Amino acid sequence: MSKKDFEACPKCGSNTGVVPKLLLIGLESPYKKFPKEIPGGYQRFDQLAVDECRDYTLLNKPLEQFIEGYYCSSCDLGFVPDSKVTPGVLVMRAVQTGQNNRSAMEASVRPEGGVLCPFCGLIFQITDSHRWDGERHMTCHQRITLVGER
Ligand SMILES: [Zn+2]
Ligand SMILES: [Zn+2]
Repeated sequence: MSKKDFEACPKCGSNTGVVPKLLLIGLESPYKKFPKEIPGGYQRFDQLAVDECRDYTLLNKPLEQFIEGYYCSSCDLGFVPDSKVTPGVLVMRAVQTGQNNRSAMEASVRPEGGVLCPFCGLIFQITDSHRWDGERHMTCHQRITLVGER
């Protein structure tokens, strides 16, 4: 595995100081344990839980709480790459932190002006300025390129 395969640190955006590291994650997401409270775990890249990671990325029991992640020595931050995290968690993070640097995704505009967001799966109207700012879906902050616009 060469350095260029290491994912970039979510804090500094560089993989210069990044090394592979076995990370300890929670057994259950705070969202499951405290459904009515703010799921703080979603906001911390180093505080994931087993049920927030894709099944195939997990080690066999009783080691399921260890995941092969990364550590950025520049930021002193351990993180699990997005590719190992369930899509639902990625959407929750983007909604809660307001940070979504993913490159633009394509979506088509329906005849009645509705667009199905390809990232979070919600439908919004392009005329609704609270949901669409002309570049991003305001709910999940995903950049969208509209195709088939009337
Ligand atoms: Zn970093
Ligand atoms: Zn969206």
